[in-house]
Amino acid sequence: MNLFFIEFRDPLFGIIIFFVLIFVITFFSYWWSTFRKNKDYRHLDRFLRQFRSLPSQKELKVLIKSGELSEKSWLLLAQSYSKNGNYEKSIEIYNEILKVGSKQNYRDTLFLLGRTYFKAGFLERAKQIFLEILKNNPRTPQALDYLLLVYEHMREYALALEVSESLDELNRDITNDVAYLKSLSILNDVKTSNDVKATSLLKIYRANHQLTYMVFEYLFRVDPKLAWNNFDSSKSELLTDILWQVNPKDLDLDIITQNGYLRELYTARGDIELASKSSVFEFDVLINLKNRANATLSFEYICDNCKQVYPFAFSRCSHCHSIDTSRVEFSLSKDYHRDFSEENNSFQ
Ligand SMILES: [Zn+2]
Repeated sequence: MNLFFIEFRDPLFGIIIFFVLIFVITFFSYWWSTFRKNKDYRHLDRFLRQFRSLPSQKELKVLIKSGELSEKSWLLLAQSYSKNGNYEKSIEIYNEILKVGSKQNYRDTLFLLGRTYFKAGFLERAKQIFLEILKNNPRTPQALDYLLLVYEHMREYALALEVSESLDELNRDITNDVAYLKSLSILNDVKTSNDVKATSLLKIYRANHQLTYMVFEYLFRVDPKLAWNNFDSSKSELLTDILWQVNPKDLDLDIITQNGYLRELYTARGDIELASKSSVFEFDVLINLKNRANATLSFEYICDNCKQVYPFAFSRCSHCHSIDTSRVEFSLSKDYHRDFSEENNSFQ
């Protein structure tokens, strides 16, 4: 029985105490490191949570008024919100800066606010902002440019043309803008018949030979015969997608046989057999396939000015706002329409 009781003077007692101490210290340090680690994670979570939600309008007011960040930093932040499509936050920042910011940058900040309103689609508010800028500084071409765009989007073409006159006084070349606005005005006039619209558009086109795509897209849609009669073969490449979609019964074979590009295009589509090869890769493949494969052309549109790519045709680039800079690019793709019609025919 005495074997189980060790006297405290016994050297074995010291060794046991030593190991107990080591155990306690190891356990405590392990517990402490785990506790710190969890605490760190919780702190990081709390820190990251701040960035998941955007500051509220109230928080923004307090932050901007406190002046901890410079006005330039706030403008940069607003611009980055706007670039990411968060127009609401960008507008809130601009509005607060206008209240507390320096008077020196007031007009510039007002312009940025107007531009953001325009991008966000608040056309009436954008109009008021640009008119306010022009009331005090009538010779501000940037504000005039945007006011013209606002009126154009509001379909107030007469007012947009008035703005273009002010730009003309500032020695800006407005030929394209005037032709484009007049063409839009004709196309959106519900009281005018298609024939009158077509004649008026052709008159504008003949004056400066611009807006080819816009005019011929309409002509081929409403009056293919008139389109072919006024067709300029040198513009064939620019109109490839429109020509590709012309109904076979509306083709003018006299014009097509006289132009190499048109001969290749309609041989590739399978309407005629007037070309054995083509320098255009896509046409060449389709000519050699001779309609044996479910292949067709698909189109995309590139702005020659800013290189933005669009899946649809445009006359004014929505990115850089330049007119008549669209260029059509095409590639081979599967013909889903033919697939669908063959499936339907197989049930008959
Ligand atoms: Zn562009």
